[in-house]
Amino acid sequence: MPLVRSWVDSANTAECPFPLNNLPCGVFTASDGEKRCGVAIGDRIVDVSALEAAGLIVFHGGPLLDHPGWNRLMAAGPEVWSSLRAQLTELLEEGAARRSAVERHLVTLAGAQLHLPFQVVEYTDFYAGRHHALNVGTMFRGAENALPPNWLHIPIGYNGRASSVVVSGTDVRRPWGQLKGPDDVVPRFAPSQRFDIELEIGAVVGLPSKSGQPVTVAEADAMIFGYVLLNDWSARDIQAWEYQPLGPFQSKATATTISPWIVMKAALETFRVSTPAREVPLLPHLAEPGPLLYDIALEVGLTPEDAAETILSRTNYREMYYSAAQQLAHHTTAGSPMNTGDLLGSGTISGPLKENRGSLLELSWGGKEPLTLENGETRSFLHDNDIVTLRGVAKGDGYIIGFGDCTGRILPALADPYSRQG
Ligand code: MN
Repeated sequence: MPLVRSWVDSANTAECPFPLNNLPCGVFTASDGEKRCGVAIGDRIVDVSALEAAGLIVFHGGPLLDHPGWNRLMAAGPEVWSSLRAQLTELLEEGAARRSAVERHLVTLAGAQLHLPFQVVEYTDFYAGRHHALNVGTMFRGAENALPPNWLHIPIGYNGRASSVVVSGTDVRRPWGQLKGPDDVVPRFAPSQRFDIELEIGAVVGLPSKSGQPVTVAEADAMIFGYVLLNDWSARDIQAWEYQPLGPFQSKATATTISPWIVMKAALETFRVSTPAREVPLLPHLAEPGPLLYDIALEVGLTPEDAAETILSRTNYREMYYSAAQQLAHHTTAGSPMNTGDLLGSGTISGPLKENRGSLLELSWGGKEPLTLENGETRSFLHDNDIVTLRGVAKGDGYIIGFGDCTGRILPALADPYSRQG
């Protein structure tokens, strides 16, 4: 599919992450101070809440965008999602008849205050990258036991905290927790010294499923509204002490940062790729009916205080062993309903080479091989005031599809987390 040209000139360049082909969904603060739904186009945001209020976008059955969050539209299903894209394309394409009516609802994207694009009702995080699982398993349990016996049969996950999902740009405070080194007799309570990132993609559930009714992989794919970049901040020292036998808990509870824009599944359609060859056949309820992953180039940048950014890693979403649709299908097998606004983290996306690793834990091999940054400093894990930025882009024919940066800065741990002063 070629670039679809818009009368918003900045949307027509090969480097713009928000061409008319994209139309990603966000929430921004409008000039009147109200939060509203917006769609990025070129270097602008089109105020789609205002377009709906003005009757320029219409949905059968009434308004869906009169609330600062996309959940109601997400719940309305694929026909409404397509209708939104068709109506926006007609309003924004080159030569559009109603250009002047739309033009007054554009605002400048640079400097706009962006918010969580949807209400995250639940958050599940998976462990579905084979390179990552092998690397971490080797470090935590040894090469012999690196991949757990279930790993090639089900996408392993844990239930995370929706309450600490934050939008890009939100500062992240280094957490305190229980730490116990391999030579310590007892644990101590202290700030995490091994605070880390996880480069992931999040799938956003649009259509809900029914209680007691598992969904097929194809049905699961149809339920997904879109995708975000996701940084699953992880305290590795807390994790190493707490994770057996029930999985991560406080090590993953500090924050999860997502990109400000949800890229709708339709914008990624031409970038579909198959999951890698199965090492052992999957049981039929998890087998894929077609290509359900996406070719999305990813990178991680780290910017120390008062220094230039170093790119730590480059990889691709197509490296995942399980697709989001398989994860979502698996999520429903025991009867739990999935809801509009459910967020599913892919698991860390590492590739086969060292420079493709999606966490500092892997890049520094548990701290044994610190990385050297552009300014000569080294890193095994995050330092205070480091800024981490995830970027993702699908490269089309003369255009790209972007998500907006997914960024966060590390604030120093509180001197006393139980202090009630201030
Ligand atoms: Mn994770």
